[in-house]
Amino acid sequence: SRRHDVVVIGGGAAGIAVTASLLRRRGDLDIAIVEPAEMHSYQPGWTLVGGGVFSAAITRRPMADVIPDKATWYAAHAERVDPGAREVVLGDGRRLGYTRLVVAPGLVIDWGAIEGLEATLGQHGVTSNYRFDLAPYTWSLVQSLEKGRALFTQPPMPIKCAGAPQKAMYLSCDHWRRQGRLGDIEVSFCNAGEVLFGVADYVPALEHYIDRYGIETAFGHRLVEVDGPSRRARFAVKDAEGEREVERGFDMLHVVPPQKAPAFIAASQLGNEGGWLDLDPETLQHARHPAVFGLGDASGTANAKTAAAVRKQAPVVAENLLASLDDKPLLAAYLGYGSCPLTVERGRIVLAEFGYGGQLQPTFPRWVNDGTRATRRAWWLKAKQLPWLYWNGMLKGHEWLARPARRHADRDDTQTARG
Ligand code: FAD
Repeated sequence: SRRHDVVVIGGGAAGIAVTASLLRRRGDLDIAIVEPAEMHSYQPGWTLVGGGVFSAAITRRPMADVIPDKATWYAAHAERVDPGAREVVLGDGRRLGYTRLVVAPGLVIDWGAIEGLEATLGQHGVTSNYRFDLAPYTWSLVQSLEKGRALFTQPPMPIKCAGAPQKAMYLSCDHWRRQGRLGDIEVSFCNAGEVLFGVADYVPALEHYIDRYGIETAFGHRLVEVDGPSRRARFAVKDAEGEREVERGFDMLHVVPPQKAPAFIAASQLGNEGGWLDLDPETLQHARHPAVFGLGDASGTANAKTAAAVRKQAPVVAENLLASLDDKPLLAAYLGYGSCPLTVERGRIVLAEFGYGGQLQPTFPRWVNDGTRATRRAWWLKAKQLPWLYWNGMLKGHEWLARPARRHADRDDTQTARG
């Protein structure tokens, strides 16, 4: 087997950002990235593709272009990890030894969990912004729908970018409103959960748009089956009257399926009860295997699963991983920051930014941007600034506005990686 100082599983937002960050701190580190995909996606852009603002093409680049030059790329998937032997086993049978491992494979979208969905995606009015090839279909459906019923679904948590199911809905409604068609289109938000958004401070601004667009909110509605040709969707409903199933017809259906951790995490003894990476929430070091760190959507930490979270996590992992290599205490702390720019209309965004426990963590002072209100400045940030910052800042290891918080050295004895 080949050995590397650091092996990184995944070349998504998290894997690339942390690799770039490590190399910026220590240029001679021998880092390998294990990633099977040929293309790297800027997924936060897909909401704007579905809203007719971005072209799909600008949300993807060849993986070879985003992998830092100094890193070694293995174009294979990680089959499992042997934390005892400190080895990663690749799908093609190769084994990579590591001194430190970073696990960043993202999450798995469980399209198959909804009966009939895979067979009908991309036709019969059934779409999802959660796939690169389908986001353009969302926009074409929005443009062509003149009247009828539009359903937008949200699965049980956790999902990546928890606001994205309703972002798709608001942008669609905004288009129909501007075209004078909204009165002829019945819009429903079928949400498996019980609230519009998990952090209460942002709910009033969102409710304002629910009212403005005349959206029916159907809480406790979990999509279980889609019949594309007959345009019917079946939901398991849980409310005060108990559990039952209901059917709803649709002309357009925007689906967000349930999401789960990659299976190899649990199979490699790296998971928590839910199968997500079992990390210390502050240091992002594995709870049981000190040579292992993790970040991104695969993490079991209680933050919002977003690229914005990754932006703050990457420097924490880089700094703590290097400290552990040097046998020093882990001093960088991640406080759970995540962000969800809620596109409530074309031109305005509610910029939700919060950490562990729903504590608000705005980047800007209130006079620059009030995150609890829909603002033009936040739209400008999302549509004009963030894509550039993603490709040229985060993926290159620049850490503007992402300096880690400090932990206290006296609390770190047990956190230091040994060996
Ligand atoms: P990913 O970027 O998904 O990358 C995971 C990588 O790991 C992939 O390249 C995959 O091929 C690879 N991989 C998987 N399994 C293996 C394996 N076994 N071995 C090796 N490699 C593997 N975030 C925001 O901050 N703001 C937003 O507005 C926003 N909107 C979003 C809208 C949509 C529609 C979607 C889908 C996401 C949105 N996000 C948003 C979330 C954001 O895209 C993710 O949180 C972010 O990409 C997480 O990074 P990651 O590296 O953990 O996962």
